[in-house]
Amino acid sequence: MKCDVAIVGAGPAGLNAAASLAGWGLSVVVLDEYFRPGGRLLGQRYDVRQHGHTKVWDGMAVAAELERKARAAGAVIRCGTSVWDIEPGWKLQVAPGPEQTIEADALIVATGAIENALPVPGWTLPGVMTVGAAQTFTTVHKVAPGERVLVAGLDALALAVTGELANAGVKVVGVVLPPPNVFSGALANRRAVVGSLMSAAGLAPSRLLRWAGWFGRNRLVAAIAPLMAGMLPLRVWGVPLRFGKALVEVRGESAVESAVLRGVDSRGRARGRPSEVAVDAVCICGGLSPLTDAARLVGCPTVELETLGGVVPIHNARMETPVDRLFLAGNITGIEGAPVAIAQGRVAAASAARALGAGPPGGIEAELAAALQEVVDARAALPFHFISEIAAGREAMERVWAGAEAPVVPVPEPDTRAGAVADDLVVCRCEEVRYQDLAEQASDWASAVPGVKKRSRACMGTCQGRVCESAVRKLGRDRSRQLFPAQRARSPLRPTRVGELVPADSVERE
Ligand SMILES: Cc1cc2nc3c(=O)[nH]c(=O)nc-3n(C[C@H](O)[C@H](O)[C@H](O)COP(=O)(O)OP(=O)(O)OC[C@H]3O[C@@H](n4cnc5c(N)ncnc54)[C@H](O)[C@@H]3O)c2cc1C
Repeated sequence: MKCDVAIVGAGPAGLNAAASLAGWGLSVVVLDEYFRPGGRLLGQRYDVRQHGHTKVWDGMAVAAELERKARAAGAVIRCGTSVWDIEPGWKLQVAPGPEQTIEADALIVATGAIENALPVPGWTLPGVMTVGAAQTFTTVHKVAPGERVLVAGLDALALAVTGELANAGVKVVGVVLPPPNVFSGALANRRAVVGSLMSAAGLAPSRLLRWAGWFGRNRLVAAIAPLMAGMLPLRVWGVPLRFGKALVEVRGESAVESAVLRGVDSRGRARGRPSEVAVDAVCICGGLSPLTDAARLVGCPTVELETLGGVVPIHNARMETPVDRLFLAGNITGIEGAPVAIAQGRVAAASAARALGAGPPGGIEAELAAALQEVVDARAALPFHFISEIAAGREAMERVWAGAEAPVVPVPEPDTRAGAVADDLVVCRCEEVRYQDLAEQASDWASAVPGVKKRSRACMGTCQGRVCESAVRKLGRDRSRQLFPAQRARSPLRPTRVGELVPADSVERE
């Protein structure tokens, strides 16, 4: 199959890019491995407060409208189709499906974000899941993740999912901090957590949290807020937010039966005796990072910027990359809400069309300017932020694009307050690699993920590191005191059957 533009990812960014490009008469193919288009929009349903008014953000309806626009304009959307290889030029290999090779003159990578794993004793038990999985169960499939659910993580994403669970009638017994250890870092630090929640106040139905958002602008109140948060009985959607407790273990025979909590002070130090709460599901929030594998596979250089969510392909505001005819859009460029991803899709479409000498009748430059303005407006109107310093991250990326040196990522000092990690804690679930093996590899000789991978088999299983690599890197950094780079992206990007790697007609039979 041949087309003008191939788009990897049918989330809001990819769908909106497709609608624009197809509307200008270009042939467009959008590929997505999920069974229906919409990406992470599909799970989003919550009230947002803006300018004193509350309105529902219904991601599924937004996705349906984007899909309708793209199809009406003539874009081909292929779901249930993984892109497992991309050759320069562009030649994409996809599976499963009848047409496994797609050739395109321009490529837009809109692969979104991925959740970071946060290993905790007992996290391999059935009933433990990420908050993103709980969101998909509840909002997309209308299935309750459990009857009594605990959420571990106090940030914008965890709050959004808590609201979705509570509004769907799921009993959420509380929201607590994740375990304070080498994997959670600032996510378990009450001071940092309260700061980040202040930028999520637009989500919350509780007056107290809205006040927190307002108070956050006052330095003195911001300084004492972490102490107050530990003492105040704060509730959202009727669910208690327990800033003074952290999840330290999940227990159960063959599935989740209880969660063990421990008190923590405002500096993250453990205090008091552990207590046990009966639950049948635990949802853990380890934060989001851009999913960059497809962009890295085609040689797009990356830079690590924590203020954008981690490792990000180098790009400019026009969604161009240093690679000819390769464009990006959406959360792959940094973690922000869906309205920004939608607007970035329009920008990427305009840049791709310009590179191909196409565009709307009004002229491509005017379209590009209008699309860039839409991103600015969408950003300004966001009701909450996943990363409170995102604006600094965008500025840093502009400097990198302009040729400035990438900012040096500080390797954090080992956190002496952080709780010890049990030697037998499973970190890589696919290959069942335990903390002790990884810690030895990381402190003995390895200085990057591939070294640990060869010796321990971590990141070598079905997920190819998409689940555990962020945890392996955090551990590696902590032990080696070095940056601990990630592994290279390699084909096949997704588990692929041999029959799809080698087309049947190319095999000689005896
Ligand atoms: C778990 C989770 C929960 C989130 N919750 C919220 C929320 O509540 N509110 C909010 O505003 N934002 C949320 N976000 C952020 C969200 O990513 C953005 O809102 C928005 O969906 C980003 O749009 P996107 O188009 O960049 O990516 P996505 O919506 O993530 O879409 C990317 C698509 O690319 C596809 N894809 C990736 N790699 C391949 C491949 N190799 N082959 C084929 N297809 C591929 C994926 O299947 C996916 O459908 C969440 C993100 C995650 C990961």
